[in-house]
Amino acid sequence: MKRSIARGERIERFLDRVSGQHSGKGNPRVKQVVRRIVGDLYRTIEDLDVRPDEFWKAIGYLTSAGQTREFGLISPGLGFDHFLDLRMDAMDEETGIAGGTPRTIEGPLYVEGAPLVKSEARLDDGREAGEVLFMTGRVLNIDGRPLAGAIVDVWHADTHGNYSFFDSTQTEFNLRRRIETDSDGYYRFRSIMPSAYGVEPGGATDVLLELLGRHGRRPAHIHFFISAPGHRHLTTQINIADDPLLHDDFAFATRDGLIPEVVRKKDPGELMKRGLKAPFAEIHFDFVLQPTTSAELETVVEREHPDGDGEERPSKRRDHWTDTHAGG
Ligand code: FE
Repeated sequence: MKRSIARGERIERFLDRVSGQHSGKGNPRVKQVVRRIVGDLYRTIEDLDVRPDEFWKAIGYLTSAGQTREFGLISPGLGFDHFLDLRMDAMDEETGIAGGTPRTIEGPLYVEGAPLVKSEARLDDGREAGEVLFMTGRVLNIDGRPLAGAIVDVWHADTHGNYSFFDSTQTEFNLRRRIETDSDGYYRFRSIMPSAYGVEPGGATDVLLELLGRHGRRPAHIHFFISAPGHRHLTTQINIADDPLLHDDFAFATRDGLIPEVVRKKDPGELMKRGLKAPFAEIHFDFVLQPTTSAELETVVEREHPDGDGEERPSKRRDHWTDTHAGG
């Protein structure tokens, strides 16, 4: 058997030096994580006999992926976003937290500071002739009681699968709103049906998925942050039920409990009532929030979000389990 370099004493000492274990400076958590990841990669190189040209190709790939800002897509494409959700689900289960609307991935296209409106909103700016969609429902606590004054922060793609802000041809905050629930916990909005969309053809994510024999498409969906005082912040999405890619999402976000029925209305009476000439769609969906006494869990997981002004900055809090599990 070939002698292992990557598992030898010498490499263990080398990894200590690489990760600054002997230095009193730096960040212990970063040292810990870097030592582990670099060591795992050394072993990968050895076990799979990765050639130097393959290694440098990978470095070139990572460099270009960073330059084109594709890591926000590579991450869900490789299942990291869903894996973090699965871990949080498992931790909830361990601590006896059950029920409530399932969480699912945020994706990289949230923008802070969408207009805040009371109970009812129109999300689209009227410039696109898509299928009109009315979505309504309540925000409830775990006992089924309505939560008045909860915030439904909603964002979705247009009929071409593009998001405002990232698509500069759309008006500011198009298809993005924060809706405050009414005294009965209701939110209501009118919008246009979002389209399925995919990663940039030929971009870093596409290149990788192609090499894996996978596609980079997502079924049509609508993103939500739901928050209310005394309740855990919920990051989730609903899927449009009739999308052919419903259970074939490159980002692995589709989950049971997040696929409400889409009701198509074409009856002339219904159209007249809504003041519409073409058939439209209706979705009813209630969000159920977990209670919490932790102010930290009431807010969104910290992650860089562009603000409407184009600045990227981390929002409020750190991921709760990196705090509790650090050093473990
Ligand atoms: Fe999306």
